[in-house]
Amino acid sequence: MNKNSLVIFFVFSLIANIGNVSMDACRAEEISPDISKEALQEKVDNILRQEVSVARRSIKDVFRLADIYAREGKDQKAMDLYKWGLGIDSWDLWGQLKYAELLRKNGDSVQASQKFNQVLAYAEDEKLADQAETLLGASPSQDGGKDPAVSNQSMEIVLVPIGDINKRLLAELRGELERKTGIRYSISGQSVDPGNVDRFYVDQILGEMIRQMKLQLPKSGVEGDRKGSGPRTRAGKIKFIQRFMIKHGAHPEDLFKFNGAIELLQAKGQYDASKLLSLLEARFKIPQNSPVMGYLGVTSEDIFNRRNNFLFSLSGDNHAVVSYFRMTSAFNKTPANRPRLLERTLKQAICSSCFLLGIPRCTSVGCVMAYTSGTVELDEKTTELCDTCKLQLRALLNYSKSEANA
Ligand SMILES: [Zn+2]
Repeated sequence: MNKNSLVIFFVFSLIANIGNVSMDACRAEEISPDISKEALQEKVDNILRQEVSVARRSIKDVFRLADIYAREGKDQKAMDLYKWGLGIDSWDLWGQLKYAELLRKNGDSVQASQKFNQVLAYAEDEKLADQAETLLGASPSQDGGKDPAVSNQSMEIVLVPIGDINKRLLAELRGELERKTGIRYSISGQSVDPGNVDRFYVDQILGEMIRQMKLQLPKSGVEGDRKGSGPRTRAGKIKFIQRFMIKHGAHPEDLFKFNGAIELLQAKGQYDASKLLSLLEARFKIPQNSPVMGYLGVTSEDIFNRRNNFLFSLSGDNHAVVSYFRMTSAFNKTPANRPRLLERTLKQAICSSCFLLGIPRCTSVGCVMAYTSGTVELDEKTTELCDTCKLQLRALLNYSKSEANA
């Protein structure tokens, strides 16, 4: 690969990564305005004739057409398409839900219930899980249930929702935290509004692109780079990269892709975890003579701080913030799996809880208190405290219990 194509290749590997931060959990249900039902039908007829590996790439179109037939009441046509599509991508949980509805309507309630249960168990999208639960006719889930082992516990941590968060996940998290730690957890009725994002993905990505371009080609020769400082504004940076791409032989279609990717990133961004911590500190004070030991904010938003490009959590003295943004299947481009999302969030929340109680970071392999730099390491450690950390937590719990009984 020559230098120029290396640079272009690099630009596109960055653009490919942009998809990771522009998440959209729901499938667009509406047919895109530029394609008629007839055209979609023709497209799908073609997909059905393809090899599995090729069909997989366009499977959304099959579900889209199935959705249309379902809305029109053409059950058999819709069911055939859902079944075919799910044979290729069984993890399309919206597809599973809609197929199950039709199965039940047409008399196969056993298979329908199996599918509703599968969706309820695995959906990370709260609306989808709620819908499966309603269709299943199950009683609404309890808030994790009070564990008798902690009902007399005199230490409590309050979970505070920050922004729009998955309430089902939060309730499950509360129950699991109590079971794992023996501490009592409650969910605050008040949520914190995080406000507007503190920095935009688009600015981070553009900055990184230009930095890498300069590393690859110290003298890029592109106008605007003569003084070596580079463009400062967002528009300037976009123009800089466009000119750079043109100069190095990018195809017009490449430019089109670049512009589209940038468009996607304009509105989304990250929150400064330190600011969220300050918001929590200002809003929630530790009451005197109360079992409350700390407040743990939980958010679905992406967070960062001065030293880290992204964070799973940040802890202060009595307040901490946990973000599950980078733990979701939507971010990691994997099939939805709420038990896995819960486990990841749980590990981070146990860690933050222990910090709130004054238990330090641990270096034992596999201990939930060990440091993790990413999702892979997070998945590698267990949800358990090592013996040393467990002793510290038990000592704290026993001490606070005897204090309360005194
Ligand atoms: Zn440990």
